[in-house]
Amino acid sequence: MKALTELVRDNILQLKPYSSARDEFKLDGCIQLDANENPFESGYNRYPDPYQNQLKQRLCDLKGMQSENLILGNGSDELIDLIIRTFCNPGIDNIIGLKPSYGMYQVSAAINDAELIEVALNGDFSLNVQRVLDACTKKTKLIFLCSPNNPTGNTFSSEEIDSLLNAFDGIVIIDEAYIDFSDQSSWTDRLSKFPQLVVLQTLSKSFGLASLRLGLAWASPELIAILNKVKPPYNVNGASQSLALKALENEAELNLQIQQILNERAWLEDELNKISIVQTVYPSEANFLLVKVDNANKLYEYLCANGVVVRNRTNQYGCVNCLRLSVGTPEENKELINRLKEF
Ligand SMILES: *Cc1c(COP(=O)(O)O)cnc(C)c1O
Repeated sequence: MKALTELVRDNILQLKPYSSARDEFKLDGCIQLDANENPFESGYNRYPDPYQNQLKQRLCDLKGMQSENLILGNGSDELIDLIIRTFCNPGIDNIIGLKPSYGMYQVSAAINDAELIEVALNGDFSLNVQRVLDACTKKTKLIFLCSPNNPTGNTFSSEEIDSLLNAFDGIVIIDEAYIDFSDQSSWTDRLSKFPQLVVLQTLSKSFGLASLRLGLAWASPELIAILNKVKPPYNVNGASQSLALKALENEAELNLQIQQILNERAWLEDELNKISIVQTVYPSEANFLLVKVDNANKLYEYLCANGVVVRNRTNQYGCVNCLRLSVGTPEENKELINRLKEF
């Protein structure tokens, strides 16, 4: 692979980051007259820890990782943008993505004026490494993989990803938003082997904290240090930090919820397969099912009119007549199946 200094934009390499008043966050017990805050205590009158040290430590304890490998963002969507901004010179560099996949890579690439070259997955939604490598140009800085993939629900084989990491000399981002619903282990296990690897995770799905907006990027300490220079100083607000810490106290409850979602996914899959308008229920390692039906547009309209909102993916590459169904509570899933039987 290329050295990090060859991949990062020159202006970012040169960048002297903003030094915030709270960069040296050892102010406990001091009179704090350094940040022009309102001095009257409200619980929120002080700027938060710009590096979210407490929350990172808790996440590292949960996942058996080191906090020098971690940066937090205002959702992983912020981190996707941060990575593109750090590596891609606008109007010059490009990015490889897959289709069908998560829509934010395209949006963030467009905002940063980086071309997103979309490479088709195979018919069974598996990864075609040779096709990805053939699409790379001298200006390709990043490859985004989503595994388990949204909206198809499958994971890519580790042999395929391994060979891509070995063959490509830029940065590979593996978006693991749904990893906790999968049998596969996280690619964070292999960070030390692959210095150009970035693993994205989120508290929005399995952790049940979508409203707090907390995304995680795991990478080498060198890469994390560069991303830390570029991020806004207080990108994760204090309320989110403390509410997330509170929510993460109950690991056992979170694991129970994940187990229940997996049970419900299996139940939904069985029930869907009994319904005549359902052609295919694709195997899923996420908390949703991609389902091919006779007429997705009609069914989508019918469900909307009857109080059930799902995601219509019929216009995505390889997803003609497909709906994406999130796994809900047992009651919600029963309602969904009843509506489908009525249709
Ligand atoms: C839901 C999702 C995310 C999460 O984004 P947040 O900004 O962290 O809420 C990231 N990637 C994929 C593929 C997703 O489906």
